[in-house]
Parts: sequence; structure tokens; C-alpha cells
Amino acid sequence: MAKKMTGAILPGNSTVELKEFDVPTPGHGEVLIKMKSSTICGSDIRCIYNEHLGKGPEGYQPGLVSGHEPSGQIVEAGPGCREFKVNDRVIVYHISGCGVCNDCRRGYMISCTSDEYRRAYGWQRNGGMAEYMLAEEKDLIHLPDELSYSDGAQVACGFGTVYEGLEKIVISGNDAVLITGLGPVGLATAMLAKAMGAQNIIGTEAIDERIEVAKNSGLFDTVLKAGPDNVQKVKDLTGGMGVEKSADCSANNNARLTCIQATRKWGKIVFLGEGGTCDFQPSPDIIHDQKTIYGSWVTSIWKMEELVERIVRWGIRPEELITHRFPLEKAGEAYALMASGKCGKVAVVFDEELK
Ligand SMILES: [Zn+2]
Ligand SMILES: [Zn+2]
Repeated sequence: MAKKMTGAILPGNSTVELKEFDVPTPGHGEVLIKMKSSTICGSDIRCIYNEHLGKGPEGYQPGLVSGHEPSGQIVEAGPGCREFKVNDRVIVYHISGCGVCNDCRRGYMISCTSDEYRRAYGWQRNGGMAEYMLAEEKDLIHLPDELSYSDGAQVACGFGTVYEGLEKIVISGNDAVLITGLGPVGLATAMLAKAMGAQNIIGTEAIDERIEVAKNSGLFDTVLKAGPDNVQKVKDLTGGMGVEKSADCSANNNARLTCIQATRKWGKIVFLGEGGTCDFQPSPDIIHDQKTIYGSWVTSIWKMEELVERIVRWGIRPEELITHRFPLEKAGEAYALMASGKCGKVAVVFDEELK
């Protein structure tokens, strides 16, 4: 067993620093995971890579190993582990909570109210951009044999977040769905909405490279270049009615308004994209047409566990949305590419996931 390992830290000036760390030893209820796949999230770019923006739950502690979308294999289990053991393939739910506040008891450790014990991997404790990672057993989900570690990394944050949002607006075969913002979260929304039965999936996106990725994914019936004609075009594609459901994954003011206005009467809208603002007129845009807007942040660990089961049942592969894979030595290139937006999902991978 190696004593030292390499890990990537984010100084906050659009660079990545590789540093040597001690390989940690798992304590009571903890495991040591050999990292296999660790994907980069939009929030890593927005709040850490470009500059350290976040406060409180979004605050990155300088010098910690980055990466909050980890999947790997347990190589050492500390005393007191009850369910997980050496060789188990796992996904890490990316926030470790206190376990006893109301939010943790609902499984939403993302919203844990304990200042002392809420620590997100890759933010307030070491994350997945290293050869090994220490995690608490209670934060783990079994990764089924049918799925790869890169499938698992995709679930750890992005797919879980999307699934929660789509469950809130209830997607079924009844629905035409509009998705604004076709980065990794928008693509994941299309993949899950399709698996859940949605029939007419329309996407809008501003960046040309992302339009190409979306078109090539085969997940969309129509991909539109973001613009002021989007509401009319979506109505034209839905018999003049608009979609039943929409999801904003862009955090863009105009795109959010498109979601609201291109959704038909009694329709449901979910906002997944973080940051920015939204200008709309309550009476004509939502009240008179009986529309509902949901906000949705990450998911609960039990829902993530059910999502993993369903991904296998549906026969879909989240890793297909990864357009670029890098070894840890090239983490700098990986983050720079993700920051450029000229890509789908970007992953830092190890061992058999390097391909
Ligand atoms: Zn994330
Ligand atoms: Zn808590």
C-alpha cells in the first residue's frame, strides 16, 4: 500500500496544482477508496476554479483535494463498517452531513444545518481528484456491476440532481419537455427525461460546440440555438401549445424566461441551473396560466440509490455523456476544457477507466 499520493488542488486563479498528500487511514465507520473516475462539475468551475466565490456550504477550503463527483473501489474499511467492505464498487454522495439534523434525517445532507459536521467532499474535506479518497460509510451507494465507475461519477452529483428535479415536475410519456442549457446537466436531463418516457424533447443552447454535442447525442428531437425566437419555435413544435414540462440548466435570465413562457397552461418548470437572476411578470407569465416553478438542489441519498437501480433497469449509460477523459497528471487540461464550455462532461480517470 502506497504511503503517498498525488491530489489536485484549485488555487482559484484558473489553474490546477498537483500536490503530494499522505494516503489517509480510515477511522471508525470510514473507508479508503481507490479512485477510478472523478468528473468535473459546473459548480467547481463557477465557485472554485476561476475564483473562490462560495461562502458557507459553497465555500472551498483552500488546499483541499478538489472533486465532488467520485466513484471508486474500497481498498480498506475501518473498524465499525456495517455494510460496505473491501473490493466493493461505490459512488460517494458528495456531502457528508451530521446525520441527525432534520435535513440529514430526510437524506438531504446537501442541506445539513450543522456548521460543525456538514462537510462536502472536494469543498470542506478532501475530494475525488486524488489517487485515494477517505469517505464515511454512511455516504456510500453500491455501484452495480452493470455500470462503470464513470457512470457512477456521473450519478454522484449531476444525474442525482437532475433526477430530483424531474421527479418534482413528474415526467412521463404525457410530456413534451424543454431543456435550456445543454451542458452536462442539460444532457443528463435529456437522457433521464427520455428514459422516463418524455416523447418530444427540445433543447436550447448558446455555445456552438455544445449544440453539436447535443445533436450528436441522439437524445433530442430538436436542438435550437438560444435566441429571442425560442418561445415561438417551441410552440410551433408543440401544436401551438408549448411543452408540458421544462427544465432550466443554464442559469441564464433569458433562458429561464423561455422555460416559463414556452410551457403551456398548468405546466411545471424546474430551475436546476445555479446563480444569476430571473425577470418575469408574475400575472401573465405564471399566475393566469396556472403554472408552477420548482427550485431543486441536489438530491437525497435514498433517491440517488433508487436512481442507480433505475439506470440499470432503463439500460442507459450516463458515461456516454463524457466527451473527454484525462489522467490525473493532466487535471489542469481537464479543468481548462470544462471552463471553456467547449465539451460535454469532462472526467479525470484512473486504471481501467483510462480509455
Ligand atoms: Zn456538482
Ligand atoms: Zn445534518
